[in-house]
Amino acid sequence: MVKIDLKGQVKEFESGITPAQVAKSIGMGLYKSACAARIDGKTCDLRTPITEDCALEILTFEIEDGKKAYWHTTSHILAQAVQRLYPGTKFAIGPSVDTGFYYDFDLPSPISMEDLPKLEDEMKKIIKEDIAIERFEFSPEEARREMAGQEYKQELIDEHAGNGEKISFYRQGDFEDLCAGPHLMSTGVVKAVKLTAITGAYWRGDSAKKMLTRIYGVSFPKQSLLEEHLQKMEEAKKRDHNKLGRELELFTTCDLVGQGLPILLPKGARIVQLLQRFVEDEEQKRGWLLTKTPFMAKSDLYKLSGHWDHYLDGMFVLGDPEKDKEVFALRPMTCPFQYQAYLNKKRSYRDLPLRYDETSTLFRNEASGEMHGLIRVRQFTISEGHLMCRPDQLEDEFKSCLELTTFMLKTLGLYEDVSYRFSQWDPNNREKYIGTTEQWDEAQGVMKKILDHLEIPYSIGIDEAAFYGPKLDIQIKNVFGKEDTLITIQIDQMLAEKFGMEYTDKDGSQKNPYIIHRTSIGCYERTLALLIEKYAGAFPLWLAPVQVKLLPIADRHLDYLYEVKKALEDKGMRVEIDDRSEKIGYKIREAQLEKVPYMIVAGDKDIENNTISVRHRSEGDLGSMTLAAFVEKAVSEIDSKEIK
Ligand SMILES: [Zn+2]
Ligand SMILES: [Zn+2]
Repeated sequence: MVKIDLKGQVKEFESGITPAQVAKSIGMGLYKSACAARIDGKTCDLRTPITEDCALEILTFEIEDGKKAYWHTTSHILAQAVQRLYPGTKFAIGPSVDTGFYYDFDLPSPISMEDLPKLEDEMKKIIKEDIAIERFEFSPEEARREMAGQEYKQELIDEHAGNGEKISFYRQGDFEDLCAGPHLMSTGVVKAVKLTAITGAYWRGDSAKKMLTRIYGVSFPKQSLLEEHLQKMEEAKKRDHNKLGRELELFTTCDLVGQGLPILLPKGARIVQLLQRFVEDEEQKRGWLLTKTPFMAKSDLYKLSGHWDHYLDGMFVLGDPEKDKEVFALRPMTCPFQYQAYLNKKRSYRDLPLRYDETSTLFRNEASGEMHGLIRVRQFTISEGHLMCRPDQLEDEFKSCLELTTFMLKTLGLYEDVSYRFSQWDPNNREKYIGTTEQWDEAQGVMKKILDHLEIPYSIGIDEAAFYGPKLDIQIKNVFGKEDTLITIQIDQMLAEKFGMEYTDKDGSQKNPYIIHRTSIGCYERTLALLIEKYAGAFPLWLAPVQVKLLPIADRHLDYLYEVKKALEDKGMRVEIDDRSEKIGYKIREAQLEKVPYMIVAGDKDIENNTISVRHRSEGDLGSMTLAAFVEKAVSEIDSKEIK
């Protein structure tokens, strides 16, 4: 017998019982909505035999990992439909993603958006057939035989075959796929499905490899939930930074320059400049010292830092390591450069903490298939910083880094949208990390203590740490629900030793400082993308690239408005005048579309009374007022960084 703890209620079951059977014993409702299980905190399949006492949770669609299993199962249903409709297809991979699922296919002949309804109908048939999904295992040899002719699966089998372990497969009727799971119990658990997009995607995201057909979709346990979701996605499309940011002339991209290398246009560059000034000034107030370090260094520097061994794929190397005497690389982060600033002279315990910040432009060689707008780019600028401190200062300093990010997020109106992830190493993936188990236990222990002390609600990400230390990742979702890391704060007790960074302690002994790696607002391009989507382009006044648009009713009002323009510009405001001979209603509509916060209209009466008529993009007509009254109002809104 095994004792199973179900949310605090302990029950006894026969050894070997599966979570699916446990769910059934509780009720058919739970069984039918079960997507996956969690045994002692680890997500697993509903078919996993339980042979030891444990805590068990049945995961339904409402729980993140349950939803993933649900969406991933739907990707198999899609693959089965493709197998039925397009015989001869070669199958690649079909994971769940933040916003649903996709499957990559190598089809015998191309298909388009118009073919998706047909595929959807076939999927609905498979769902209606309510085919049982079974799990089984093959040895690598059996797996290779089973997947004969499926070259992508063969490649995946070869990767898994290394340790000689059995490879798990899932079968539903005439379709089977090698897969780690977990999966739903039958195809009928899926109720409502929609295929949403079809794109090209390179196998393994590598442009040197074959271009496959990627079909995206989403599914729900209820039709009404699907409809709600589709409506939300329609709304999100209007806010998509990659579309809206171009329409508002904030940025553009150009094939001749290259993928993942966006060009910030004057309005976008202005916003980034404003953010940058804000961040640098705030950091200065909090005791950070600005450095300015090179964009590149000799390979020796990265060899010492570990980047050469652990991050080479992500780096742009200048020169040929085989032929050239000296090879350089563009920097993927600033850490080893700022360490040189620390090493510039001898440090004593009294010099610590030492806080270095930098507005760093960094370069990362992302796979070409991964590039997206301002979010996935190859060159970006980040508010980076490294803080060297003594062990007794670590908690306070970590806290102050976190306070700084909180302040930034609140100011930008993003604070409510973030969640926290404590990213830890994976002791089973030693190759990825430097340092000893003891060092990792210590660094993670310190970080856990700090996070618990600060009462931060966090999730845990295994194998998500930096190669030199654990991270607190501040995660944010974009309008489509896709999650990305916005900000990270890391504790590192390994690199100081590697670089010979020391300080003389009170007792005269030499010690290595702790290093905190952190960003305060993350990378400016990504933050700009989030702000575009958050505000649908209607930025708060202090960030708006154009703050006031001046609209004369007729040409004879122009001179008056040029004076107004000069007065506002003298106050540091960003002003444009629409001097076209268009109707005033038309000019107002255009300014609204550009999301300019304030519009100032002037006509005969305004000139006569020495006033201006003011409109706000969301509050509408604010009536007439003196220029001085408007300036006072606007300046106070800018200074307080008000969001409206
Ligand atoms: Zn699967
Ligand atoms: Zn760093």
